[in-house]
Amino acid sequence: MSTPPLASGPEGPGALRPLLDTVLDALREGGEARGGPLPAGGPESVARRVRDALGDVLPEQGTEDALRVVVRALAEGAADPADPLCAAHLHCPPLAVATAADLAASALNPSMDSWDQAPAASELEALVTRALAQEIGADDALVTTGGTESNQLALLLAREAHAGVRLIHGANAHHSLPRAAWLLGLPDPVVVPAPAGTMDLAALDEALTELQGLRGSLLVAATAGTTDAGLIDPLPDIADLCEAHGTRLHIDAAYGGGLLFSDHHRGKLDGLDRAHTVTLDLHKLGWQPVAAGLLVVKDPHDLDALGHRADYLNADDDTEAGLPDLLGRSLRTSRRPDILKVAVTLKTLGRAGLGALVDQVCARAVELADLVEAHPGFELYDPPTLSTVLFRPAEASDEAVAAVRRTLLHEGRAVLGRALLDDRLWLKATLLNPHTRPGDLAALLKLVEGHTPR
Ligand SMILES: *Cc1c(COP(=O)(O)O)cnc(C)c1O
Repeated sequence: MSTPPLASGPEGPGALRPLLDTVLDALREGGEARGGPLPAGGPESVARRVRDALGDVLPEQGTEDALRVVVRALAEGAADPADPLCAAHLHCPPLAVATAADLAASALNPSMDSWDQAPAASELEALVTRALAQEIGADDALVTTGGTESNQLALLLAREAHAGVRLIHGANAHHSLPRAAWLLGLPDPVVVPAPAGTMDLAALDEALTELQGLRGSLLVAATAGTTDAGLIDPLPDIADLCEAHGTRLHIDAAYGGGLLFSDHHRGKLDGLDRAHTVTLDLHKLGWQPVAAGLLVVKDPHDLDALGHRADYLNADDDTEAGLPDLLGRSLRTSRRPDILKVAVTLKTLGRAGLGALVDQVCARAVELADLVEAHPGFELYDPPTLSTVLFRPAEASDEAVAAVRRTLLHEGRAVLGRALLDDRLWLKATLLNPHTRPGDLAALLKLVEGHTPR
């Protein structure tokens, strides 16, 4: 075999073009072979097809058609979030333009840990993060791999700003928050009840009053868009309480943050600008391929805690001579320019275009909720706040609810999530596909109806 071609350099585009044709053909063939939102047959049959397609993982001699064969197998065995009946998780169908931009990131391969690996990408990141931070009245934001890393960084910055910080979060908070407290060696978090799905204000006030006397300081983490139900904590009231108690506030808006783009819905995020740190996640309501997380930081001095020197990346004399120092922008070293696809998306769609996508998926959720309510065979949890609808077959046991979800997965017909709320199991439809039509929603309910064991 001759030396394989590279993705960048003068020969890069010419080498990539036929390979892209191969990839696109394999995506089409694999998707057609699947013929639905998920491969049929369950984990064992999917695993067998992948094993058969892959064969020897590291053969002595390479094979020419590996790109086609492996991509096809991946596509055939994929859960495709662009299928209207794939609606379990905050797993969005990426925009074609964002995915195309991501290809350029892979081809050029800038690494965001020093200016001499990413001269333009570092400026692009500075411009876009600043603009997004300004959407919520802050000056700066870090790029992360998603909500989990953003929440970790928020806790880290709080710990560095206030030694001995203790986290207070709602029972509705994302699991990554208590996990971050564990990772950072913080005391066990205080969990505030959320009986109606959002943080209980009286209980928060009580907890803040009670803990005030203790040593150390407090960090309240609220949620704008819960993962299970898409509910938004009462942000202005929580911000008032934090102010009254002199407590730092983090808001996890990994899901709900996308509402910022919508004139119609952004009022639901009132209070977001009062947080010290805010988690955003554009691989949810932002239609980006993973990863596209952000942590917005109100006080840029908080970021001093991440300052770090490594002579080969940001020597003092290089920095003094004007080379931007990027190492303090992340805990990672090598780092993809995930901001590229975000920049391209913002500029291609504009605020109006992104807002329209948000409005569409929220409208679909209302339509699904209406269908559920109008159907005597189903029960609705609550009218949707974001784009999540929780419902269950009326009179079904939790076991039957769990079983219908797994049957639909096994047959590859629909991908629905599950949520345990009010001590009952619900089916969860997280609608993130702006191409979904009302007829798809009716079909989804029909499938559930037809597959519920009685
Ligand atoms: C999805 C989610 C996260 C985690 O984000 P990842 O991108 O999966 O790391 C955190 N918080 C909330 C509220 C989420 O919905």
